[in-house]
Amino acid sequence: MSTLTTKKGAKNGQGPSKKPASAGKSAAENVINRSTIFDEVGLPRDADNLYTQTVATMLQASELIGLPHEVKIILAQPKNEIMVHFPVRLDNGEYKLFKGYRVQHNNALGPYKGGLRFHHDVHLDDVKSLAFLMTMKCALMKLPFGGGKGGVKCDPRSMSSNELMRVTRRFCAAISHAIGPDYDIPAPDVGTNAQVMAWFADTYDSLTDSNRSTWDAFRVVTGKPVEVGGSLGREKATGQGVVDVCAELLPELGINIKGMKFSVIGYGNVGSWTARIFHDMGAKLVAVMDHTGGIRNDGGIDAHALASHVSKVGGVAGFEKGAGSSSGKKGSQGATRISAEEFYKTPVDVLVPAALEQMIQTEQANIINAKVIAEGANAPSTPAGDRVLESRGVEIFPAILANAGGVTVSYFEWVQNKSCTSWSAEKVDTELNRMMVAAAGRTKAARSKYKCDMRTAAYCAALETVGKAYAVRGIFP
Ligand code: GLU
Repeated sequence: MSTLTTKKGAKNGQGPSKKPASAGKSAAENVINRSTIFDEVGLPRDADNLYTQTVATMLQASELIGLPHEVKIILAQPKNEIMVHFPVRLDNGEYKLFKGYRVQHNNALGPYKGGLRFHHDVHLDDVKSLAFLMTMKCALMKLPFGGGKGGVKCDPRSMSSNELMRVTRRFCAAISHAIGPDYDIPAPDVGTNAQVMAWFADTYDSLTDSNRSTWDAFRVVTGKPVEVGGSLGREKATGQGVVDVCAELLPELGINIKGMKFSVIGYGNVGSWTARIFHDMGAKLVAVMDHTGGIRNDGGIDAHALASHVSKVGGVAGFEKGAGSSSGKKGSQGATRISAEEFYKTPVDVLVPAALEQMIQTEQANIINAKVIAEGANAPSTPAGDRVLESRGVEIFPAILANAGGVTVSYFEWVQNKSCTSWSAEKVDTELNRMMVAAAGRTKAARSKYKCDMRTAAYCAALETVGKAYAVRGIFP
């Protein structure tokens, strides 16, 4: 059965070479054709390349705000691209060579910041794009951070806990010279979690000398377990941020969270927390799709029961066989198994993509039956997909705003570690909400000032912040 469309649509034969069915080009695609910056910095004008797409969105917004040329070329390439290879002993005694990346995109506003992804499909261009998005996200949120991202090409689902630990420790050793608590601060991302951060911090602490305290070394990553300096509320933070942004922006579209219908792609950390928080606010989860299949129940899927099912069996498949309900509410028992096509066609108020990049291409965008897409994942749609969604009047809450809750609570964790304090869960929630509401306000203000869509507006607001930093810092020498 066709399940989750994989990144770049490879699984269903919807690879990047397939051209959009409808005529006309999106603003980002037009920028790719006409901007000289791609040649100046040596980037391919390939509209299907995720990094090219990310730069195109930046250039489109840069033109609107009048960002100086020198800032555009600085942002068009990352400052540092680190690629490492390291051997790890597997449980069967054999050795395997792994490939790891850390891309440090920009640090004009503060230390590089961004997650570490463990996934079999990690490539340099993806990591570069994700690092770029972190620069934009931190700037939009007005955090004192730049942007970075890293990853290891591996399949954590097929590895034992010991193998995962050895990969983490060897990767940390390989990049330890290039990161630091005030220089570049990784965090969890797809395929990594608080445990991985604990192993990473422990390795960094063991490898770096000096007489500073362990807790100082542990600031090298955020998203740690609370036992070793993690913040309360970090685990659910990205999902909470998605909900906070929706609570702020949905009312102007006439949608009330209480009673609205929503669907989710991906039921990992971001998808399941978003769903559980929405569920508790009275919204109805009607469809979910992940790498194991799709499920639907128009009466409402119990988001909590589904989360415990997924944590036991690794995916949503099987829930339809009567995994049951934790709340006992009528209509919340199980679900029906559906295809990917049926998933996208399910009518909802809000669709939350919370899996990998580039899943919503022309084909999916043409059949999506949602009023709003709240991007829990980074870059979940292609420019061609975006254009279709725009022409069909689907509102998009862009990732650099909607999923910024994770890095925002990462910042709170870093501040708590630096000042040897720990905040209550209530304080984390209150501060997170304050910052998400403020960033949503900046995005709305940019949308009315520049008369553009929400994605471009979010980039405009972020780039204004970065541009001001360069204006006062100047460019060395
Ligand atoms: N990986 C998350 C993101 O893409 C969190 C990054 C962080 O906390 O530094 O936003």
